[in-house]
Amino acid sequence: MEKLSNPQVTIELIKRHGFVFQKRYGQNFLIDERVLEKIVQAADITKQDCVLEIGPGIGTMTQYLAEQAGQVIAVEIDPKLIPILEESLREYENVTIRNDDILKIDINQLVSEQNQGKPIKVVANLPYYITTPIIMELFEQHVPLESVTVMVQKEVADRMQAGPGTKDYGALSLAVQYYARPYLVANVPQNCFIPRPNVGSAVVRLTRYTQPPVQVKNEEKMFRLIRASFRQRRKTLINGIGNAADLPYTKEETARALERMGLSASIRGEALTLTDFARLSDELEIAHPE
Ligand code: SAM
Repeated sequence: MEKLSNPQVTIELIKRHGFVFQKRYGQNFLIDERVLEKIVQAADITKQDCVLEIGPGIGTMTQYLAEQAGQVIAVEIDPKLIPILEESLREYENVTIRNDDILKIDINQLVSEQNQGKPIKVVANLPYYITTPIIMELFEQHVPLESVTVMVQKEVADRMQAGPGTKDYGALSLAVQYYARPYLVANVPQNCFIPRPNVGSAVVRLTRYTQPPVQVKNEEKMFRLIRASFRQRRKTLINGIGNAADLPYTKEETARALERMGLSASIRGEALTLTDFARLSDELEIAHPE
C-alpha cells in the first residue's frame, strides 16, 4: 500500500470507508511526509525498541514507526478507525492495534505484558483535549519509558519548557521538568493536517531522567503543593496553599517555612523554581507530618 503521508491516499481511504471525523476525539490527521520523518527521527527509534503510539488515527505515523521499531502498540479509542487501521497496517507484522481509551487502561500492565516491563518509547500526535492528563499519567504512574515524542498544541509545548517568572510557567512546566528534559523538535503549521486544527502545533521530545534533578521527601505532596500554588495565579503562595482542601498546611506554617528559606511572605508560586518547591515541600513535611 502507498504511504498515507500522500494526502490523496489518505482522502481515498477515508472516503472508501465512509469515515466521518469526530471533533470530540481531537481527530486531525497528519498528511506531511517531512513532519512525519522529523517526528520519527527525533524519537530515535531502533529495531530494539517497543513503541507505544497513542491515537494512531488511520495509521499514517504508525506506518513509519513500524518500519523503524521492533514492535508498535497502537491504542485507538474510535472503533470506526479499527477496520481502517487493519487495512493500512496489514503489511506490518510488528503492530498490535488495541481499541481502547488510553486514560482507562493500565499502561504499566500493558508494558509488562508487551515488553516484559522494559522501557518503551512513546510517540504520538496527541488528541489535544487530553494532552496534559496523558503526559501526567505516563510520568506519575512511573510507566517505564525512555522518551515521549509528541505533537502537542504550540501553547502546551511552550508551557512544558517555561521557566520561573514567565507567563507560561505553571504546574505542567514543573511536572514535565521534574521527570524529563524537554526539547522543541519543530513547530508545525496547520496545513500539515486534515482537517486543519484551529491552533498552532509543535513537536516536543521529553527525555526521561533516570534520577529527577531535585530530591524531595514526598513527591506526591510536592505536586499537590505546586498545583495549589498555581490554582489562583494572582494569589500569594501562602494564600494558595492555605486555601487548598487537599493540603493540611496553615498559612502560618507556610509563612514560617518561607522565612526559613529566605523568601518573602508575599511571594507568588510563579517565582519559585523546582528546587524551591522541593525545599518548601520538605520544610512543610517536617513542620506538619501527616
Ligand atoms: N496519529 C494520527 C495522525 O497523526 O494522523 C492521528 C492523530 S489525531 C490528532 C488523535 C487520535 O487520537 C485520533 O485518532 C483519536 O481518535 C485518538 N484518540 C482520542 N482520544 C483518545 C483516547 N482517549 N485514547 C486513545 N486514542 C484517542
